[in-house]
Amino acid sequence: MTQIDKNAVLTPLGEQLVGGSLSDAALMQATASTPDFAILPWVNVIKIGGQSIMDRGRSAVYPLVDEIVSNLKHHKMILGTGAGTRARHIYSLAIDLGLPTGVLTVLGTAVAWQNAQMLHYLLAKHGIPFIEPEGFSVLPHYLMERNAVICQGMPPYKLWEQNPATGRIPPQRTDTGCFLIAEVFGARKMIYVKDEDGLYTADPKKDRSAKHIPRISVDELLALDLDDLIVERAVLELMARGRNMHEIQFINGLKPGQLTAALNGEPVGTTIYRNGHAQGDAK
Ligand code: ADP
Ligand code: MG
Repeated sequence: MTQIDKNAVLTPLGEQLVGGSLSDAALMQATASTPDFAILPWVNVIKIGGQSIMDRGRSAVYPLVDEIVSNLKHHKMILGTGAGTRARHIYSLAIDLGLPTGVLTVLGTAVAWQNAQMLHYLLAKHGIPFIEPEGFSVLPHYLMERNAVICQGMPPYKLWEQNPATGRIPPQRTDTGCFLIAEVFGARKMIYVKDEDGLYTADPKKDRSAKHIPRISVDELLALDLDDLIVERAVLELMARGRNMHEIQFINGLKPGQLTAALNGEPVGTTIYRNGHAQGDAK
């Protein structure tokens, strides 16, 4: 289409988009101008750690399941699962075999799926479904009816996963997949349930002198240049470009009450916020 009919029902942006180039920087800037619409503004996305929670089995998972059930009346939750130790094992086999990152992603997704299946069967008697990305259109209905759904946490890139800057491990794993669900639906909160009280200056399992960080901005955290983090680095990169999610929270799922406190808006654990959003809670 070369000439746009001025009588057509196109907004000024519509005219620019139809006739212009999608590589034009000014035009791309213009697409940022309308307010963001939050699709599910009341939903809380909760990532249940693979290695940190699921791999610990009954002692960690049963009390957490009880706490999830006790919150069903008060909060709506999308529960995404991590992969964990079995994924690390299969990554090592696939790397040994020379297989690419996209194949490792397919394999890791299958492990997160296993964890989601187990969580699903533990919560099945409460009517909570497991949903694949292809079935996300029914997710709002289940959230209204049953207050929670379960999904596996990997983003559905599979063979299309990009190579990391270094090495072969998929850079966007379950922390990232859950963040992206929260971002696209404009969720109320993104809560990571792991096995530490949040972020420390070093991995507290390796450094006993590591100090707890209750609240920090993405930029401050990147400036610290820590050797290891409680979250995938891809999440920090995506937060900088997030339009809906301005903060994410990390809590200890081995300590009963922390998930409930986080759902109730309390500053438990660690909150990492996007620069320019120092005040307020989730939004
Ligand atoms: P998941 O179970 O969700 O996959 P991970 O095992 O990938 O979680 O990440 C959580 C772990 O990150 C914690 O158990 C902790 O030992 C480790 N960790 C590494 N660096 C830090 C840090 N700076 N602060 C807190 N935890 C850290
Ligand atoms: Mg992990």
